[in-house]
Amino acid sequence: MAVIGGGPAGIAAAAVAAGLGRSVVLLDASPRPGGQIWRHRDRGTLPVGARDWLGRLEASDATVLSGANVVDVAPGFRLGADVQGRAVTVAAGAVVLATGAQELFLPFPGWTLPGVVGVGGAQALLKAGMDVRGKRVAIAGTGPLLLPVAAALARAGADLRMVAEQAPPREVRRFAASLWRTPARLVQAALYRSAFATVRYRWGTWVKRVSERDGALLVTWTTGRSTWAEPADLLCTAAGLVPCTELARLLGCELSGEAVVVDHEQQTSVPGLYAAGEPTGNTGMEAALIEGAIAGFAAAGQGAGARALWPSRARHRDFSRRASEAFRLRPELRARAEPDTIVCRCEDVTLASIAPGWSVREAKLATRAGMGSCQGRVCGPALRHLLGTSADTVRVPVVPTPLGVLAGLTAQRDDSRGAS
Ligand SMILES: Cc1cc2nc3c(=O)[nH]c(=O)nc-3n(C[C@H](O)[C@H](O)[C@H](O)COP(=O)(O)OP(=O)(O)OC[C@H]3O[C@@H](n4cnc5c(N)ncnc54)[C@H](O)[C@@H]3O)c2cc1C
Repeated sequence: MAVIGGGPAGIAAAAVAAGLGRSVVLLDASPRPGGQIWRHRDRGTLPVGARDWLGRLEASDATVLSGANVVDVAPGFRLGADVQGRAVTVAAGAVVLATGAQELFLPFPGWTLPGVVGVGGAQALLKAGMDVRGKRVAIAGTGPLLLPVAAALARAGADLRMVAEQAPPREVRRFAASLWRTPARLVQAALYRSAFATVRYRWGTWVKRVSERDGALLVTWTTGRSTWAEPADLLCTAAGLVPCTELARLLGCELSGEAVVVDHEQQTSVPGLYAAGEPTGNTGMEAALIEGAIAGFAAAGQGAGARALWPSRARHRDFSRRASEAFRLRPELRARAEPDTIVCRCEDVTLASIAPGWSVREAKLATRAGMGSCQGRVCGPALRHLLGTSADTVRVPVVPTPLGVLAGLTAQRDDSRGAS
């Protein structure tokens, strides 16, 4: 069994299946297991639950390949990976896709200025040692992810000026009132909020544009009724997360919107191929662990173990559904980009150069949008949200890959064909 992705979902899937005696290999693009939420932290600072799962993985017989980017997957299953510059082919009877999510960026005037970053990017920079002490920081966007980032910035000494949630106040209130159903999340939200208790936390407020003035950012805020500008040194934005589904789409899995469709056992529409965590759209670390464990049990043929976790998964799905309803993006956010706003920052493509009605593919062919170094990972989802089009087709390799690795993978494939 191969597990792709070493976040909470992949760790749980690999640890459970290996614990049941299956031969498991976990391939993770990151330098060490842990995914978006745990990989940057020293083991001693992690919550007990995280330490337990990492300990279970280490104590198991699962082979963990870090720095391993899976760039190709063929039916059957045959995985091609770039493992720190080496071509590695893995043959597996079952695969768990636990590839996580990435941030969604919705272009607005000034979003490419230095000092404007995604909240996840800000968090990663902070964990890597960025000094924010005394810097005027504003956070704008949507969803529960704003809170841990605001708390982390406040604790790191940032001069946090405002946290702006775009969702209307009635939606946020309704969501907050529903948190009694998940007391742990209620406590967590209160703890985060207490870390920036004196900072303005406005609902129904979003960024209209950003410009540069006197060496700093000038952020224009709006509530739709009133508009005002405030200076900042750093603006962290969040428009939500987009599941990473390139490998699932390569294998022809059924998708619903941006998420991979799975059955009760986390199996996708392709037999033997499971998906867990963010790719299924059921967001959050706890949900990822449970889905990963279910996939691990199911892929190992232990249906009873998987079934025991269904009630817990149902509670997390309920939370995800409530969160996605409450923090739905308001249409005004899609209308912010102006004709000269850059929509593909790798290739400097402006909105005006994309004709209304074009598909993402047509925009790519005519303007090079999506052909730069990020290979459409940033502008692809942004254009889908702005233009309302469906995703472009996926091609191998799914991430930029050295030619030597591609040649190595091709040679390994030809060798195995010759051998069979
Ligand atoms: C930028 C960002 C910041 C976040 N910060 C927080 C936070 O502070 N608090 C919080 O509660 N939640 C946060 N989240 C949400 C968090 O990601 C999830 O709740 C949780 O980590 C989901 O676990 P997962 O296993 O599904 O995915 P992830 O933890 O994202 O793990 C996915 C793993 O798959 C790997 N991967 C992806 N593609 C490939 C490939 N082709 N080959 C090999 N490996 C691959 C990635 O490198 C990653 O290690 C954040 C999400 C993002 C995108």
